[in-house]
Amino acid sequence: MIAFRYLLNGRLDVREGTIRSTTDLDRLDGAPQGGGAANDRLHHEAALRLTGAEQRYTACRRALVDVMSAAKRPLTIPEILAAAGGVTVSSAYRNLTILCEAEVARRVSGADDLGRFELAEDVSGHHHHHLICSSCGTMADVNASDKLEKAVAEAARQAAEETGFDVKTHRVDLEGLCPACR
Ligand SMILES: [Zn+2]
Ligand SMILES: [Zn+2]
Repeated sequence: MIAFRYLLNGRLDVREGTIRSTTDLDRLDGAPQGGGAANDRLHHEAALRLTGAEQRYTACRRALVDVMSAAKRPLTIPEILAAAGGVTVSSAYRNLTILCEAEVARRVSGADDLGRFELAEDVSGHHHHHLICSSCGTMADVNASDKLEKAVAEAARQAAEETGFDVKTHRVDLEGLCPACR
């Protein structure tokens, strides 16, 4: 359990809270992501981006980043709330919007209308693709293979040549049925 303090609605009300996410989400989604130094780098990058957007890296935003970092898939707002104990719905919406505007996080759209959130890839340092369940909408991160990355890079090069489009990144979604829905 990681203890943290958060500002309720970013104002005066300061309380103690706990992140249950680290254990809950790890159990749900597999092994924990790299600790210590990687985590420091991640928070440093998040703080830089928020500063660039003239925003502060509040304890609440830090807690949201921790929750997204511990997950192995994009999370819905209810999932984020369940993991970041004590954060209110309105506070989660507002702070996730700010994290997205500062390009610390991004909203991922899938097979349903629920918004899901994950850390920006250049913040997490983890390029990946998504498995999307077309029945329940759940998403899972899947590692990108070298072979696929090479093929996509070649496709991007060709597209750039033919269209003058400057390709910066790509997204690969694999859609189907998750084990629970099969
Ligand atoms: Zn499913
Ligand atoms: Zn890729």
